[in-house]
Amino acid sequence: MDEMHGFQLIDFKGWKESEITEMCGGGIPANLAGFWTSRKLLAAEWWSIKPKILLQLNDKREQVITDELFPKRWQNFKEKFDDWVEAQTMDLSLLPRIADLAVMEPFRSILFECLVKTVEFKLDEIDHVAKKWMNSRNEFVFSLLPLDLQERYRTTDFPSLKSLMILRFRRQEDRTTLHDVCGDRIGRCNLSTLQDQRIHRMLPGVNMPWNWSKADLEFDRDGYMIVKDVLQFLGQDPYDAVLDGELNNVKCYCVECASNSQWFTPQGAKEMIAHQLHSHNGNLPAAVSRWHVL
Ligand SMILES: [Zn+2]
Repeated sequence: MDEMHGFQLIDFKGWKESEITEMCGGGIPANLAGFWTSRKLLAAEWWSIKPKILLQLNDKREQVITDELFPKRWQNFKEKFDDWVEAQTMDLSLLPRIADLAVMEPFRSILFECLVKTVEFKLDEIDHVAKKWMNSRNEFVFSLLPLDLQERYRTTDFPSLKSLMILRFRRQEDRTTLHDVCGDRIGRCNLSTLQDQRIHRMLPGVNMPWNWSKADLEFDRDGYMIVKDVLQFLGQDPYDAVLDGELNNVKCYCVECASNSQWFTPQGAKEMIAHQLHSHNGNLPAAVSRWHVL
């Protein structure tokens, strides 16, 4: 191989001389593999040096981003994200959290990959990505529903997810609400690549991104029938009922508990539903014979 300036050889895989000197404080690192050898380089030698150089440069890039650039960058991103949250009217539990957006493009590249010193985050960009995330989340939730309910809910104010809050799901043996499904940030994300693992290590003490997995998660039709029954007993349209406001002021007592001298007087539809879902081991009579209104 002809003798060449190192950068003619190294100008591959996206690395530029200016980028390397910038990253390394103004010069070429003294320990860059084989770089300071001033003699003709044999092709075989070059092919053995090339991966070492690339590895060194990539390691250096990750170190500079992680140690020098990321902390301030994250701070800026967080401030803008908090501003965005402040401007939202939707229930907080239904909004994406900061890690959800951080792992989506373009933020993923800007936060975790980019060597540029000063980066800027714009509110409308956060809004755009957040809406994309919410649409995907809603589609995911929708895909969990049985077909008949998909048909039914397609005509409601689906994007707000409000009317779906009465739904129940099963995660393994546990009954869970849509609220809990949407809040699931337990570390069960799919960390399939080294890059994903690095990003997750860098996320500074925030919740992990939302878990989109359908593993162990299914629609709870029995639970749904119970919720629907209670709501109809309270004179509500189960497809439109929103579990707050007046529905939380009703007072009923559970007939079975009363007959066992365990006087249980829940206040509000939420408590009634919870009682009916989680007490008396399933075998439930219809709400109309279970509850007496006080
Ligand atoms: Zn009871």
